[in-house]
Amino acid sequence: MSCTQSSAELNVVVVGAGLVGALVASFLAKRGHLVRLYEYRSDVRVECSRGVSIDLALSHRGREALRAVGLEDEVVNHHGTAMKGRMLHLRDGSLKEVLYDSVNGNCIYSVNRTHLNKLLLSAAEKHPNVSLFFKHKLIDADLDKGTLKFVRTESREIVNTEADLIIGADGAYSLIRRTMSKRPRFDFNQKYIDHGYVELSYPRGKDEKYIMSGNHLHIWPRGEFMMIALPNDDLTFTGNIFAPFKTLESLNTPERLLKFYREQFPDALQLIGEEKLIRDFFQTSAKTLVSIKCKPYHVGNKTLIIGDAAHAMVPFYAQGMNAGFEDVLLLDHLMELHHGDLDKVLPGFSDARCDDAHAIVDLAMYNYLEMRDLVAKKSFLARKYLDDA
Ligand code: FAD
Repeated sequence: MSCTQSSAELNVVVVGAGLVGALVASFLAKRGHLVRLYEYRSDVRVECSRGVSIDLALSHRGREALRAVGLEDEVVNHHGTAMKGRMLHLRDGSLKEVLYDSVNGNCIYSVNRTHLNKLLLSAAEKHPNVSLFFKHKLIDADLDKGTLKFVRTESREIVNTEADLIIGADGAYSLIRRTMSKRPRFDFNQKYIDHGYVELSYPRGKDEKYIMSGNHLHIWPRGEFMMIALPNDDLTFTGNIFAPFKTLESLNTPERLLKFYREQFPDALQLIGEEKLIRDFFQTSAKTLVSIKCKPYHVGNKTLIIGDAAHAMVPFYAQGMNAGFEDVLLLDHLMELHHGDLDKVLPGFSDARCDDAHAIVDLAMYNYLEMRDLVAKKSFLARKYLDDA
């Protein structure tokens, strides 16, 4: 099998057209493979639903992958907003700046998730050897044989297909990973944290200015809970409040919500405005945050999981998407190295990636404790940032 697959054109099915699935489609298409990308939801370029976290922080790893498909300039320079550091909003109303790189001035970029997803889909679609199928939900797969069963979400019609290579980029609740977990010697560890989050947005500033510094990631650390906000290129901010579910659930009336904000985040309340805060907060219920480690990432020479499907992490290290993009770079590198021989590429991916990805998942969990406790507990970083405040 490996002989026939080496350097030959592969028939690839990518499940999930989120950020990582859309990106890997372009990489595989550039190598000349036939790629079909199946997505449960509708085309985000046509129908836009509110998804998880509106803004994401793009760092060096993610940029490298975008560069390889010619999108770095567009994302960073035309749609990204540079963030040179964190701006801490302390309880007494004072601000403290913590630069990411005070020596060379390197920064990370705030990018809009939906916009990035649209760009990645359009980039994939430009390749004549890529086909996109929306409103197709994977319901079953034989990961050894490479067969897949989808249901069309509108007509309920069943679509059976097969592939030389299945890429599971179907996110944190991946069906491909769930199918892998039934196999012997598959390690799996999943943890939901006590905290959930609600998305909030901050209005556009007047006179072409942001309502607070437009080149920082803003953080309101309050021990058990915290808020963050990232700037957008249209002079608004989007962000989240992260808090234990019991706290979020106790804020079940507009009066309780406003009282909490007046006590904990008075400056943010002023910036967002009472009406808008109430509207945003009660628009959706709080979302969960899950952390997943598993091993290996492949099945034989037929199936591979990447992105959140392989290593979902809590968002406090801002590396989930960046790590998923790095997976794509690694896969591309191994395809080159082994001339597309999947007998070598897929085990090579697990060997090279599992331990590193587990480390990023752990670092994200560590940062969960670190960020929210920047004020309440005098941890090492808290002392560094705040003792001289
Ligand atoms: P997803 O984006 O989840 O895409 C998976 C796709 O698969 C979806 O479109 C889904 O509809 C589809 N799918 C699922 N099941 C099926 C099925 N059965 N059939 C067909 N399709 C299916 N990362 C960063 O790098 N920086 C940040 O600043 C950052 N901030 C974050 C903030 C929050 C609040 C959260 C929750 C996450 C954050 N992340 C961040 C992480 C980032 O969002 C994820 O790592 C990234 O979206 C993973 O991309 P993905 O393509 O692997 O998965």
